[in-house]
Amino acid sequence: PPAAELEALQHADVARLLPVPAAESDKYRRGVVGIAAGSSRYPGAAVLAVFGALRGGAGAVRYVGPASGAVIARFPETLVSDEGPGKAGRVQAWVVGPGAGDDAATVAEVLDIDVPVLLDADGLRLAERDVVRARTAPTLMTPHAGEAAALLGVRREEVEGARLAAVRELAAVYRATVLLKGSTTLVADFGGGAVRVNATGTGWLATAGSGDVLSGLAGSLLASGLSALDAGSTAAYLHGLAGRFAAQGAPAGAHDVASRIPEAWRDVR
Ligand code: AMP
Ligand code: MG
Repeated sequence: PPAAELEALQHADVARLLPVPAAESDKYRRGVVGIAAGSSRYPGAAVLAVFGALRGGAGAVRYVGPASGAVIARFPETLVSDEGPGKAGRVQAWVVGPGAGDDAATVAEVLDIDVPVLLDADGLRLAERDVVRARTAPTLMTPHAGEAAALLGVRREEVEGARLAAVRELAAVYRATVLLKGSTTLVADFGGGAVRVNATGTGWLATAGSGDVLSGLAGSLLASGLSALDAGSTAAYLHGLAGRFAAQGAPAGAHDVASRIPEAWRDVR
């Protein structure tokens, strides 16, 4: 019989995938995630992506961009660099785009680095399709329906009416792993195979900055060595649970969601 089109991760699957530091681990072996995000207009996107990354299991988070003052003030454990991403030092996976404005040069610079890259928000718009297609290291793209529609050149309603087809088409066109956000999240690999669906979230996650937290979290899991499919689907699972723990039937901000990621992590263990 044909393999199921959709598969949902369960607690036990996620527990198996989450990185555990070995007794002899050091921060570099646990993975360094680089965050190239934020702008003078959207410094908070950088702070939230770093927050998600710090709770995602990497050994260190490196930030490059114009919001390093805001990032350091909130998270002194962040490594900041005045150099561009290409010269920032050892990084096992990059996140580029949240709140990045029109900084196409930084997006291009990150895509040129031969490690896994997560492209989100402005990064999706600024990335050259042929450059993404030509990458040899994995690319994980994390659009919501509006961003996916813009990439496909269709109206948002068309994506919302055919989400499975849209996520598969984007993956094929970009030769990337694509995580389509919404009330449920779909994650598709470009090689075909079952699409992962996640429904752990809550409508309270529809709040500003929520996606920035997810980007950092997924980037951190990429840096610790998960495949793009596993990093994306595991991040969506934890983010959804963290959103539930943060909200519990009342409004929650994106930083509240990030702060509950450890609780989600313990819950699946
Ligand atoms: P963004 O639009 O980039 O801020 O990302 C929003 C995040 O919240 C994504 O992870 C979505 O999957 C999640 N989200 C948004 N709306 C809902 C909803 N109604 N139910 C569950 N999760 C949601
Ligand atoms: Mg977003």
